[in-house]
Amino acid sequence: MDETLFTPQAIKKLNPRFFKVAQAGSDVNQLRKDLAGLLFTIELEASQQDDLDADILARIRDTAQVIRNMLKKRSDELASFSMSTAIYDIANDNPRPDLSVAFFAELHYLLLGLTGQGSRKSMDDIHLSAIDIEGRKAAIRRSQQLDELRSEVDIKIARFTTGLDKRSVNRRQKRRNDILKTINSSQDDWQDWRWQINNAVKEPEQLQKLTRLSRKEKSAVKLAKSHNLPFGITPYYLSLMDDTRKGRDISIRAQVLPPLNYVEKVAATKPNSTLDFMGEEDTSPFDLITRRYPAICIFKPYNSCPQICIYCQRNWEIDSLDSNAFAGMDKINAAIEWIKEHPTIHEVLITGGDPLTMGDHTIADILTKVAAIPTVDRIRIGTRTPVTLPMRITADLADIIAQFREPGKREIAINTHVQHSYEITPELVRAIDRFRSRGIPVYNQLVYTYYVSKRFEASALRRNLRLVGIDPYYTFNTKGKEETLQYRVPISRLIQEQQEESRLLPGLERTDEAVFNVPRLGKNYLKSREHRDILSILPNGSRVFEFYSWEKNMAEHSHTYSSVDVPILDYLKRLEEDGENIQDYDTIWYYF
Ligand code: SF4
Repeated sequence: MDETLFTPQAIKKLNPRFFKVAQAGSDVNQLRKDLAGLLFTIELEASQQDDLDADILARIRDTAQVIRNMLKKRSDELASFSMSTAIYDIANDNPRPDLSVAFFAELHYLLLGLTGQGSRKSMDDIHLSAIDIEGRKAAIRRSQQLDELRSEVDIKIARFTTGLDKRSVNRRQKRRNDILKTINSSQDDWQDWRWQINNAVKEPEQLQKLTRLSRKEKSAVKLAKSHNLPFGITPYYLSLMDDTRKGRDISIRAQVLPPLNYVEKVAATKPNSTLDFMGEEDTSPFDLITRRYPAICIFKPYNSCPQICIYCQRNWEIDSLDSNAFAGMDKINAAIEWIKEHPTIHEVLITGGDPLTMGDHTIADILTKVAAIPTVDRIRIGTRTPVTLPMRITADLADIIAQFREPGKREIAINTHVQHSYEITPELVRAIDRFRSRGIPVYNQLVYTYYVSKRFEASALRRNLRLVGIDPYYTFNTKGKEETLQYRVPISRLIQEQQEESRLLPGLERTDEAVFNVPRLGKNYLKSREHRDILSILPNGSRVFEFYSWEKNMAEHSHTYSSVDVPILDYLKRLEEDGENIQDYDTIWYYF
């Protein structure tokens, strides 16, 4: 990337008209008015050009609207930063050492967009050309183009190996044997989910014997251990690692091996709820219950998982498996009573932690009581065990859960969390099939972390999920938690992914919604621009968004939420370091 373009001098040359008006203003308030006027003029001029390409017109309008919003005083207040002052200073050559290259990169692309320039397509090999013939000939030409386009998509999707690939299966078989030998256990032990939990690897020394660790990984695991942070990897999940610490192996490791800065931050903050990013404490009307929506409640009888995902939004309250993760039947019964007293609740999401970590009898007992509430017509179970502990999905457990399915009266569904195609193994296929063959639908929630965000990586996952019988349901923007900075992806990348990659998949594969989870308020659908605005670009190049909640047109006084994103330039540089061609991501700047 040519960073010489991202300097005050280069920016001023890029759009002299903009800076001439900016410089003419006597003060920042005058600049706000003058530039807003200029932006309206630019839009008007563009819309009056009859021969202007529709895409170019849309680009000009989009960027003008975004800049106009950033120039408002209200935006300054909400973002605690004044874009107008920054532009004023740049226009008048006032020194602004606080403004980074990433800030100027954002300004560069905005000003380029305002002139109708800037990339309109990123990937050279994914495109359709204009067809100026008609009828069958046009249809044949179009079909040829679609063949070419999909062939390119197939090539890109094929970059991401699944765990069903024969070589992956063999590699993992060998790792499994090595692990069993090291911990002196048998193949039968391996199939026993309780053995897997009891042998979850928690000691740094033992982990080192079973997989190769870098120096940083070693220190982070040791520090996590010394601070008692929940940490543990099932032998099964450990067998999914490759020891290459590249590509797909990183995607697996990043799930469970904490980065050093994460451990340091969490250790410094725990134990308290300042890590409670979603504000769950403020949305829990009763012990074990969270409620954010009219018809749904979350019910959390078990507060741990067979292994903890590093970026878990509940990392502030999740316990280790060996502590008091089970809430106890008294508390559970009281929570069920609370649900019964609220007949508006028609759907109960039993999650945690991972409720399938509990024994069959307890699960049956809880499901019987929840299913007995006449107003509950759907029970969902949130579980990652098909991925971390697929042997937990025994035929008995699937039978127990299936009993509560009553077509026409009550639905029971599984919500799982597969992050990467490489997590899809023959064991996972068997586990999912146990549910599906008993009429239980399975949905997936993907957390869009850096480690799954390459071009077509999520598309490959969606395609493979459908082949296994899992419906993609949500793709979550990674939470803006400071301690998980390394996992974060700019929101514009997720929107780009949905529009440029997911859009190329058949409808039944792209069934998921991209969402930003607004603390205390719940999901904001990222496909709708009217549910968010960009307020500013901070000196480090981060965009500040304002999100409206789902209750926008219903509440007397609906709240909004301001969120600081991660800088696009930093994200692209990281991709480049990891071997990606960042030209392939060029349009990212224009997803607002
Ligand atoms: S499986 Fe879900 S609840 Fe458990 S650690 Fe992972 S993200 Fe958190």
